[in-house]
Amino acid sequence: RFDSIPLAPPDAILGLTEAFAADTRSEKMNLSVGVYKDASGVTPIMKCVKAAEQKLIETEKTKGYLSIDGLPDYRSDVQKLVFGDRIDAGRIAMVQAPGGTGALRVAGEFLARQCSPTRVFLPNPTWANHNAIMQSAGVNVESYSYLADDRRSLNFEAMLNDLSTKTRPGDAVLLHACCHNPTGVDPTADQWKEIARVVSSQGLIPLLDFAYQGFGDGLEADAVGLHTMLDACAEAIVCSSYSKNFGLYSERVGAVGLVAGTPAAATASLSQLKVIVRSNYSNPPRHGGAIVATVLSDDELTQMWKAELEEMRLRITHLREQFVAGMAKQSGAPDFSFLLKQKGMFSYSGLTAMQADELRTKHGVYVVGSGRINVAGMDEKRMDWLCSVVADVLA
Ligand code: PMP
Repeated sequence: RFDSIPLAPPDAILGLTEAFAADTRSEKMNLSVGVYKDASGVTPIMKCVKAAEQKLIETEKTKGYLSIDGLPDYRSDVQKLVFGDRIDAGRIAMVQAPGGTGALRVAGEFLARQCSPTRVFLPNPTWANHNAIMQSAGVNVESYSYLADDRRSLNFEAMLNDLSTKTRPGDAVLLHACCHNPTGVDPTADQWKEIARVVSSQGLIPLLDFAYQGFGDGLEADAVGLHTMLDACAEAIVCSSYSKNFGLYSERVGAVGLVAGTPAAATASLSQLKVIVRSNYSNPPRHGGAIVATVLSDDELTQMWKAELEEMRLRITHLREQFVAGMAKQSGAPDFSFLLKQKGMFSYSGLTAMQADELRTKHGVYVVGSGRINVAGMDEKRMDWLCSVVADVLA
């Protein structure tokens, strides 16, 4: 029986990471993987996280199971981060989840079981895993237009048109709350208002993927689109992740925050979310959530976290500026200033799959076949070299 099992295709991005690790060239640079890197090319443990872990070692009394919906302090902290105080707490069902991925999976199953025959509309393009997660959760997946043909701006008209003509009331629409992965193209504040108007008037369920809060314009500014949506719609689901903004990738820290129209509906929704969690992984892991709760319950650690997050955000902005300036110095190279309008770690560089291939084989610079680059993977000390090899494959 097992003899006839076919080999599954490797994950495109993680496969490149393995190839990068095996590459012996010293000048290699990895712009493919989706994690933040500091100036020395390391994905650092934040100082606030180390300090919180130190505290936890001293104070933690048990490794007993958490409840199905997770740590109460973590849930209330996340609720504040995501919703501020704009929603009456009684209308929110909050469940700790193993990463943003786990949160999306729980939300997907909730849609499949409780909101049938809902379909979920994903932007084109979107994070590759969205499709797989929603399908595994049992929801039918559709897509809506997002990126314009220039592959560097939003096709806002087509997006609104799809959302208002392809959808039925009760369908869900997945929106990247900020720092769209893989393109870095986000709607403006005014565009969010229009999107919220269409989502509300069509009777759609907004499903907001909030994986990069603090990586775009700052913690508060990055929540503007989400808050606009919540102002317009009585119901919404927010899947948040603390992998990036706390650097807690391997600890698997995320949450599902469901907003219902009434406290009774929130209570019923929470009970159903817990049923889903119970049969998937029973209860979430403690450590990552405890770190976030420890940081956010301590003023000094919270200030430290905000400063460290701001440092990461500014480093990404600075790298974007340096790269654009560096490319402008390469004779005959195209204008890359569009990168300055984009938000977060990712952008489509405009490189074709063939050029990305050449960049890797000839120069040891790893870029995903779609041309998506992780700006945080750039090395500011070798920016001139990076620009020269990019210009080489574009020539
Ligand atoms: N959503 C998006 C848009 C992402 O880019 C990612 C991570 N790459 C996630 C969700 C999931 O994050 P996590 O690692 O917390 O599961």
